[in-house]
Amino acid sequence: MRTCHTVHELRATLKTERLKNKSIVFVPTMGNLHDGHMSLIRRATKEGDIVVSSIFVNPMQFGENEDIERYPRTLAEDQTLLLENGCHYLFAPDALEMYPDGKRSQTQIEVSDISNILCGASRPGHFVGVSTVVTKLFNIVQPDVAIFGSKDFQQLKVIENMVRDLSANIKIIGEEIARAEDGLALSSRNGYLTPEERVIAPSVYQSLLNAKEQILSREKTFEEISEEAQKKLEASGLTRDYFEIRSQHTLKKPTKKEKDLVILVAAYLGKARLIDNLCITLN
Ligand code: AMP
Repeated sequence: MRTCHTVHELRATLKTERLKNKSIVFVPTMGNLHDGHMSLIRRATKEGDIVVSSIFVNPMQFGENEDIERYPRTLAEDQTLLLENGCHYLFAPDALEMYPDGKRSQTQIEVSDISNILCGASRPGHFVGVSTVVTKLFNIVQPDVAIFGSKDFQQLKVIENMVRDLSANIKIIGEEIARAEDGLALSSRNGYLTPEERVIAPSVYQSLLNAKEQILSREKTFEEISEEAQKKLEASGLTRDYFEIRSQHTLKKPTKKEKDLVILVAAYLGKARLIDNLCITLN
């Protein structure tokens, strides 16, 4: 696997692959890679010829009160994992390479409506940072296919809408959520949890499973189910952010006829903000 740190080097390298008519599959990440990321890389090897990943802790998607310096950086271990799982090229730029004039003078991409609800409401500007950096990465890598995790369900929808709205010729694939044995969704942020918090953390996934059962039994309203779930999480020691039952397609409040639902949760536990989701289809 070859690591490129500059746009120029990566473009020149990928040009030779494209001249050989190779298709390119791209998996963007912020590093500190775990098996969730690797499931995306393994999927990428099945979707095309050349697998390109990126590691960039994007300052544009961190808020003023969110500590970007604290985000774990483990490049050497990440390179080993990527190589072992079939990645061909890693793009690992620094902030100056991505934002030569600083993030404040950067042209911004904002995907309408969907960027300002749920995680976007709790983290103002977050999705503008995500859609801007992903647009830049798409323009640098020019992939045929890009793979995102459905762990970040709203992010996946933002990217799908962006690609559609901007008529980008890229196929977006959403990959299943990889979980620890106790159900906790794998995340680089799980590293912030103390051993005691790590024992409590699976209650987030449990809250989704409970809500799913309650939705299927149709005895309570969605508001009642959500409120009950948040109270239960608070009783376990988490701090609420949101717990919502939405349309899988639009992330808006579902209409009475909506069959494809997604339950989305975000909650704080110690220094970590945990997110998770579960899709259900009513019959
Ligand atoms: P991140 O490094 O957190 O920005 O994540 C990079 C990509 O990996 C995103 O598309 C995430 O949705 C995806 N990802 C992170 N955790 C998981 C997981 N547990 N299962 C599946 N995909 C994941």
